[in-house]
Amino acid sequence: MKKFQYLDRSPAPQPLRQGSCCTPNSPCLRCSMIRLTSHRFAMFHKKFGRLPGQDDELFFDETQLRPVRASQDEIRSQIFAAAQVYGLNCFVLLSYLGLRSASVYDERAL
Ligand SMILES: [Zn+2]
Repeated sequence: MKKFQYLDRSPAPQPLRQGSCCTPNSPCLRCSMIRLTSHRFAMFHKKFGRLPGQDDELFFDETQLRPVRASQDEIRSQIFAAAQVYGLNCFVLLSYLGLRSASVYDERAL
């Protein structure tokens, strides 16, 4: 009998299986969002010792004891951090999430 006890574990930052939608070097938006989300799940778990619920903020302010939505600048840097770890195109993600700004675009072009 198999037991599944994934829920109390932090999601491991392992690469997702690639579908035909994209290549490992240039993940599509959908796969990028999945990786970004799983990364933030892991960060949330690390910080708060539990997995986020439906109403919890994945892009939380790290200085707060409870999951409070971070500022837009903070969210951008969280996306940049995830993009670096997973090789994601952060500009696609930022555009998708409506967070793209000219200054960030100039300063941190990958
Ligand atoms: Zn894909």
